[in-house]
Order: sequence, then structure tokens, then C-alpha cells
Amino acid sequence: MNIQVQNINDTFFRLSELSDLRGDGELLPGVDAYLLTGEKRAVLVDTLQNATGLYEKVRELTELPLDVLITHGHIDHAGKSLPEFVAAGCAVYMPEVDFEFLHSMEPGVKKEWFHNLKDGDVWELGGRTLHTLSCAGHTAGSVVLYDPKENLLLTGDAVGAGNFWMHIPGALPLSEFLKSLAGLREKIRDPEQVRIYTGHQIQAQGILTGTYLDELFDLTTDIVSRKIAGEEREATLLGKTFCYRVAARGQVYSLCYRVENVDPIRHLCP
Ligand SMILES: [Zn+2]
Repeated sequence: MNIQVQNINDTFFRLSELSDLRGDGELLPGVDAYLLTGEKRAVLVDTLQNATGLYEKVRELTELPLDVLITHGHIDHAGKSLPEFVAAGCAVYMPEVDFEFLHSMEPGVKKEWFHNLKDGDVWELGGRTLHTLSCAGHTAGSVVLYDPKENLLLTGDAVGAGNFWMHIPGALPLSEFLKSLAGLREKIRDPEQVRIYTGHQIQAQGILTGTYLDELFDLTTDIVSRKIAGEEREATLLGKTFCYRVAARGQVYSLCYRVENVDPIRHLCP
């Protein structure tokens, strides 16, 4: 399995899983993990899906003591390379509330592999500090990692990459996600300059900054307050077919949600 390494700078690397996304033989980076290094330690954010050999790739880039942070419990972020890091003795952290969902998709994962990853956890890498911020919505446990010095935000799927899945099993109501997003925006020091690195960067239309978070917040607000509804579509996921809606604003070209999952209390009491 191909893993593409991109040096964003000397201390920040994107490792992408290449696969035939369009079925035309061209290998494209479908899902991304990120390696950040400091003077004393390093962290890897997410572990791709089907690619193996990620540990070896990371070790070609750094020999520093390494922790692994899983942004949420989906198999395309906690994939087949994960046991390599466990076997090498790296500490692996993931929001514990997401474990059962991950286990239901990949029964081979073991609870004892993981420490809990939660809002407020801080990673001191030496000259660089990463903050764990909760952004529940896409999953109940979703977190993002924030480097205030470099003004980087590593988001997994917590805010999508323009295409944002909130219609999948396990996603919280949009009204709950809206609270998460409001909290997240408050904690970012310089929203105009922040650079957002998502778990599926190929889906992004341009460089994502605080403007993207603003557009996502405004769009979600308008859906929750019933100002807009978007287009109706049908999808099959995990063997189940269901209806959902798609709304858009700016770089958020596809926010997918279920009508019954906008705000369940209001849905019951229209
Ligand atoms: Zn996900």
C-alpha cells in the first residue's frame, strides 16, 4: 500500500494513503495522517485506513519518542497500521466514547490499546505545545488538535473538508455540533490566519482557514433554525439506505445531515 509523504515544513508532515478513489487507476491521497515534531517528542495524528507500514514511514522522518492521537473512532483514521504503533510501545490516545463504534467496524481493535483523549489534554513536544479541543458532532468523541504558536488546527473529520458527513450513524444532532463549533471558534487565537488540516484534504476546495469555520457555523445555524434545508438525497451506508439532505455555503460545498437529526427535541415538537 502506497503512503505519500509531504513535508509541509521541517517539523510538520502529511502522510497520505494513496488509493484508486475514482476507479480509473490513478492513485490519489484519500485520507491523511499528520506528524508533528518538537525538540523532544513527536505526535502522529491518525493512522490512515488500509495502509500498512506507517510506523516505518514515520520512523524514517523522526526517531523522537512518539505518541499517537486518534481524532475519532472511524476506521479510516484508526486503520490497519495502528497495531504497529502498539507493538512498538507507543502510547495511543483516542476519545474513549468512540471506542465501541470503532470496535463494531473493526472487531480486532482492543480497548487496552487506548488511553482516553479528551478536551484539555496538552502535548508538550519541546518548543511546541499541542492542545486537545473537543469538537463533538461527526462522532460523539471527535476532537481536534491545536498548535497556537504555528496557528495550525488538525481536525480529522470534526469539521469536514468542505464535504462534511453529519448524516452517518453515531453523528450527534446538528444543534449539539453547533455548540461544539461555537466553543472551538472561541479558543482559536487568530481565526483569520489559522490553517486547517483535515483528514481528507483532497476534498477541500482551497486552503481552509477560520473563514471556513465561520461558513460552517453560519450554515449549521441556518439549518438548525430552519431557515434553509438543502436538497434531499438518498445514500446507503453500512448496508442501510436512508434519506438525507445536503446544504452548502462557501467552501462548505456539501454538509450532509438527516432531517430527524437536526434538533431531535424540536423535531418531536414541531
Ligand atoms: Zn470520520
